Amino acid sequence: MNRPATSLRMMAVAWCALAIGVAVAVPLGSTSAAGEPSRSLLQADVLPQKPKTPSPEAWRAIWNHSGTGAYPGNWDRSARLLDERGFNVVLPNMLSPTTAHYPSDVLPRSQTFRRHGDQVAGCLKAARRHGLQVHVWMVCYKCLGATRDRLDELERDGRLQVSAQGEVLDWLCPSSPENLRLLVAAVEELLDRYAVDGLHLDYIRYPGRKGCYCDGCRRRFQAQSPQGRVRRWPTDCFNGERSKEYADWRRQRVTGLVERIRNACRRHGAGQGGAVVLSAAVFGYYPDCRNSFAQDWGHWVQRGLLDVVCPMNYTERLDEFTLLVRRQVKTVGRRARLCPGIGAAAAGVSLSAKQVEEQIDAARQLHTDGFTVFDLTPATAERLLPKLQVANEAREDEAR
Ligand SMILES: [Zn+2]
Repeated sequence: MNRPATSLRMMAVAWCALAIGVAVAVPLGSTSAAGEPSRSLLQADVLPQKPKTPSPEAWRAIWNHSGTGAYPGNWDRSARLLDERGFNVVLPNMLSPTTAHYPSDVLPRSQTFRRHGDQVAGCLKAARRHGLQVHVWMVCYKCLGATRDRLDELERDGRLQVSAQGEVLDWLCPSSPENLRLLVAAVEELLDRYAVDGLHLDYIRYPGRKGCYCDGCRRRFQAQSPQGRVRRWPTDCFNGERSKEYADWRRQRVTGLVERIRNACRRHGAGQGGAVVLSAAVFGYYPDCRNSFAQDWGHWVQRGLLDVVCPMNYTERLDEFTLLVRRQVKTVGRRARLCPGIGAAAAGVSLSAKQVEEQIDAARQLHTDGFTVFDLTPATAERLLPKLQVANEAREDEAR
């Protein structure tokens, strides 16, 4: 099951070359998971526009929210378990604007780091031994793991979001230049120090329509808008005559961060034989999330800002999962790899091993480029993973 960890990075290079029209030899797999050529009308619509999924599957991924794996202090045990169950990519959550599970000089170091040491180094070492790729999961705007003191400091400096009703939120304000600098510096530091396969963005959005209406957003929006001063702040921007313009401006703040991180990934990967792969966890229902959360991931994909997109299709209903993936296949086209999220143990959603395998099969039938399971925890390691096998035996055999 061990494979070179650089394979995905090489694929990313191949895909970039395809996008600019250069002929590149990419390994091709032409059959569905069941070994049958696809025949449905939907697939007939989609297939001619989409590069065929490399064989074997390059992205059989699992998120890990804790950043410690399932066994704190023992990444090797987690990596061995994931390899046995057929996973080849792990997405460990290692940083947010207010915490890092490694000895960062840019972000506050976490309790997890103090208790268990450098989690990025530990995860990378174990992953290399067991043939897993590591795509470090970064929480972008939500202040996860923040101490009260740090939140107070950010609030004093006007760097937290404020709702239209004046409530301070524990989310960084995306229009603040200091916040943009902090997030980019955190990425630069991470990529300078660790040879990760990829970076995975999460909370790359506003908390919803309620943010952000802080004084900084008011000043910066007015300064940048051709229409200038807002007569009735924040009402005109929240749901009045300037709301459409304000919604565009919010989207541009988030997209601007994705652009900056994309550039950092390209620069850092150059010395490592290919770009650092950039992926993101996004909402499943697109374009609905464009206005509410200012998360315009279809636009990011169109512009080539992401290599891999992981819509969080967390549902217990197979028909709903399938419908979402079907729509996403059309949105993504050939511009990125689509690896939908499966909510095995997500908020309000819990799947059996059989249900997870059914959703994986559904994704394969629709010719996605892989899938991403949520979440590696002590509980899923004990109850779910021993019953789950995610390797695609048919495709593995074909690749031999
Ligand atoms: Zn703001």
